[in-house]
Amino acid sequence: MRQRPTQQIPALYHRRIGDIVVTALSDGTLERTHEMMLNVSAEEGARHLAAAYRRSFVLSVNAFLIHAGDRLALVETGSGDYLGPTAGHLLANLKAAGVDANEIDTILLTHMHPDHSAGLTDMATGTAHYANAELVVHENEPRHWFDDVAMARGTEREKKLMFQQAREQTLPYRQRMRTFFKGEVFPGVTAIPAHGHTPGHTAYLIESGGEQLLIWGDVVHMPEVQVPRPEVSMVVDTDPVAAAATRRRVFDMVASERLLVTGMHLHFPGFAHVEKDGDTYRLVPEAWVQTL
Ligand SMILES: [Zn+2]
Repeated sequence: MRQRPTQQIPALYHRRIGDIVVTALSDGTLERTHEMMLNVSAEEGARHLAAAYRRSFVLSVNAFLIHAGDRLALVETGSGDYLGPTAGHLLANLKAAGVDANEIDTILLTHMHPDHSAGLTDMATGTAHYANAELVVHENEPRHWFDDVAMARGTEREKKLMFQQAREQTLPYRQRMRTFFKGEVFPGVTAIPAHGHTPGHTAYLIESGGEQLLIWGDVVHMPEVQVPRPEVSMVVDTDPVAAAATRRRVFDMVASERLLVTGMHLHFPGFAHVEKDGDTYRLVPEAWVQTL
């Protein structure tokens, strides 16, 4: 008898930006509820979901390879073993992409939350998954997550998944960690501060051959709600008001410049444009492109 497929195919997608190739890789998905959001009622959240023909708030968790000349960077490392079995699949997808983790020379983090930095290090053994990579992150991130006073103010969940996770996961990289304020952080990649979600949250602008892509990190978690209603922030934002202001500023910039974007929680692979419509916005996903 003919076998039906029982597993999804590897989640990979290449997108050329000038001479650079960006590869979207999925770490999996996370199911969340409207309670993750601020400034929106359950009814309105449900209305936005229904308008998008979705039954629940399932977030993609994405990471991106940047192939630039003979350099290879990875933006984010996924969730590792911190957030359950629906996520934590980045290493498998990296392998499916034909990339050995040891070939990656740079890891760029947008911030140090568990769905971004918890795949740096094997939780059980404490061994770095990326033996040859320099870890690059905004200076405010370790400053905040390594701060005992800030940690003492957190909930138990925040202490474990954010502060402790950031410390554990970066431990084998301490001697090869580079922090920045802004500016070029990798060939063709410029750091654009986008603070609010976390104190050092950063977007990365990729430019090559007259083409551009903004990897906007966690400017959006719930695209169905936060694109039409950018004032909706998340309970996990360290500064929800600043996060909302950043979201609107980034939306205005990418809409007016017609800039291609992708993000860690846009539905995989996430390449899209943002259109401004009066006081609201609309996400226009990019169609699959076969040729590279
Ligand atoms: Zn995230």
